[in-house]
Amino acid sequence: MLDRQLRPQREVVVTPIQPLLPGLSDWGPAQVTIVEHAYRVDWGQGVRPRFHHVTKRKTCQCALGPACPSVLRVREYLEAGGERAPEYPDDYWPAIPDACPICGSACDAYPPLDFAAHGLGWTCRSSGTLHYWEARLRPILRARQALNGEPRWVIPPVVSANGEVLYPGVTVDDVRTAREQAQATRCRWRAEGYNPLS
Ligand SMILES: [Zn+2]
Ligand SMILES: [Zn+2]
Repeated sequence: MLDRQLRPQREVVVTPIQPLLPGLSDWGPAQVTIVEHAYRVDWGQGVRPRFHHVTKRKTCQCALGPACPSVLRVREYLEAGGERAPEYPDDYWPAIPDACPICGSACDAYPPLDFAAHGLGWTCRSSGTLHYWEARLRPILRARQALNGEPRWVIPPVVSANGEVLYPGVTVDDVRTAREQAQATRCRWRAEGYNPLS
């Protein structure tokens, strides 16, 4: 280790050919650490760039992308039982979603809503930016509800004097679910035509 540090530093630019070369392990076991929802690979001082960020989508953020040896290094690390990076929260989009999480219709990239903490911005074809914001709010609403502990009633339940439930009540979640289902049905009808059985 000391010997390696005393030797003059050689700059190595990682090229796309390098992953094919068996000699890459000469650079020593690259250290893998978890940074948020991705892996940071540290190849040591001899390699430039020294630090690589490999996402859960098996690509490196350096110019080599999926061809970067760091991707293989992360796979080795995981196969050896290394800890997995935490899953993305449901208000974080590392890529434009295939389908709107609120209504299921197609989504398009919308860079004005790109945020470091929330990933890529998108709009959905049935609502524009509205469903983006609804999706962003869901974890907040859930957290608030968990803090309150109790379901939040739009119409409180009716319980008789002897404890019998006369009316189960309607919660904020019930209303939201019903609205989401109605919206999804509307989108389906729009896409596939009206079918009274669906
Ligand atoms: Zn890389
Ligand atoms: Zn939508």
